[in-house]
Amino acid sequence: MKIVADLHTHTIMSVHAYCTALEMITEANRIGLYGMAITDHGESMQNFPHFYYFMNLHAIPRVFNDVRVLKGVEANISDFEGHLDVPEEALRNLDFCIASMHMPTLHGEPTVEKCTEAYLKMAENPYINMIAHSGSPYYKYDYEKVIKEFAKAGKLIEINNSSIKHKADFVPNCVEIAKLCKKHKCRVSVDTDAHFITQLGRADEALKMLSDIDFPESLIVNASVENFNAYLKENNIPLS
Ligand SMILES: [Zn+2]
Ligand SMILES: [Zn+2]
Repeated sequence: MKIVADLHTHTIMSVHAYCTALEMITEANRIGLYGMAITDHGESMQNFPHFYYFMNLHAIPRVFNDVRVLKGVEANISDFEGHLDVPEEALRNLDFCIASMHMPTLHGEPTVEKCTEAYLKMAENPYINMIAHSGSPYYKYDYEKVIKEFAKAGKLIEINNSSIKHKADFVPNCVEIAKLCKKHKCRVSVDTDAHFITQLGRADEALKMLSDIDFPESLIVNASVENFNAYLKENNIPLS
């Protein structure tokens, strides 16, 4: 199996990523991706894009080089009350909003209770589509409680290929999360979190893990064009 859309990617606007949006979209076309989302990091990390960057993403056509380009963001969860570092005005303007916990931008000592609380706030937030790389052992949460709410809200849990490929201590958590998504019929998106073109669209490790636990393809929004288009339609994200 392959993914048909990569919904978590970064460009040079994330500063610690190394390709332009044009290079990423061109590569997406070259490797045959049907769609992708550009999801640069939120503002609270130093030198990260100004809010105007997110407001002006409509400058990029919806379909470019035959790739459906979703305009997005990877917002930082700034505190355990679930505040984000991207203004609501920008979130409302975007197609696909990811919320993530990152060490440099989330202050305070995490506990399972606090992380659960913050992720439950994401399930309630009308602008958030997905939480990313939540298998972090540092930010453990009550997986079952949160996944049930995500399933109910029609939101996605990311299966992050980079976590599975490069972070051994994330893997058991990612497997547990995936099994609970299967149990509670919570949809997932399998993404690369690419910071360079060579990573884009290549999610073999995450897909293998899902296949090992017989994860149903119907719950993977980017496993087929049909699933992906259905997700876009359901979330009023224009196809063209
Ligand atoms: Zn990054
Ligand atoms: Zn991230």
